Amino acid sequence: MVLCSLCKEKVAVIKIRYANLALCKECFVKHFEEKVEKYLLDTNLSDKLNGKLIVVATSGGKDSLNTLFILNKFKATYDFSLLALLIDEGIANYREYKRRALESFCKKFKIDLLVISLYKELGHTIDNVAKWYKEGKISLKPCSICGVFRRYLINLYANELQADFVATGHNLDDEVQTFIMNFIRGDLLSIVREGPLTQTIFEGFVPRIKPLYYVYEKESLTYFLVNDLKTPYVECPYARLSLRYRLRTLLNRLEYNSPGTKLKLLKLKDTLREELKDRVSMPKLRKCELCGMPTVHKICRACSIRLALSKV
Ligand code: SF4
Ligand code: ZN
Repeated sequence: MVLCSLCKEKVAVIKIRYANLALCKECFVKHFEEKVEKYLLDTNLSDKLNGKLIVVATSGGKDSLNTLFILNKFKATYDFSLLALLIDEGIANYREYKRRALESFCKKFKIDLLVISLYKELGHTIDNVAKWYKEGKISLKPCSICGVFRRYLINLYANELQADFVATGHNLDDEVQTFIMNFIRGDLLSIVREGPLTQTIFEGFVPRIKPLYYVYEKESLTYFLVNDLKTPYVECPYARLSLRYRLRTLLNRLEYNSPGTKLKLLKLKDTLREELKDRVSMPKLRKCELCGMPTVHKICRACSIRLALSKV
């Protein structure tokens, strides 16, 4: 039995190895929520949320439910309103379970929920594009299409709802994986763009915020459990096809052998972004010629994928 390093009274529920801390439930919840408050302060969001509408892009997984939970807890203090948005990708034996968990969560906490069908909006399910990928009819992996389509619909609906911000459940682990993926691809522009908040100023683009930016995935899981939140632990059947999945396993191993690795990588990413931001020229945004949504090309990524899929 390990006692909490802070209160020295209660039994610890988590060992945070990179900080050499063992925390009891109460001290851990405080530690976690202070990290989210730090995020709001560091990004100057704490002064900007008053009277605003935040649309939370949720998958029904632990990170997006935590994001909804904590924002719901903070909404009276910062005086903003919340709405949960789910994009149903059309993935059998996965989506329906997570959707049900999200519906009961929103019912319990009285949060409005909007569910959008990717099939109804864009004419495809991720199951159907995954089938084509397996048959060799397309070369893009399901996650690459799913990510583009989901971001597209989230931004589209955030616009329709006149949201001021879109909040996502990205945690520190996700941010570090994205950083390494951009690094491997030599994508400096994305390294500069993928920060704690995406603030592109362009008509039709709703700024994105990431309240769990400083939170390790393990801490997010613990926060979920100690708050007695529920979701079935089913994994998307296509997750293992992605580079992100392999990186996640590798980074977890590195973190285990050398605690603090992920935090150091996050700090490196933020330093690099600062260093590079005046040297990398940002491409100008314009309106997609097909759908009118913001893009750097003539046709946005979602429309060009749809065009490619229409030829299969
Ligand atoms: Fe979509 Fe990939 Fe996530 Fe599955 S793992 S929901 S295919 S992005
Ligand atoms: Zn378009």
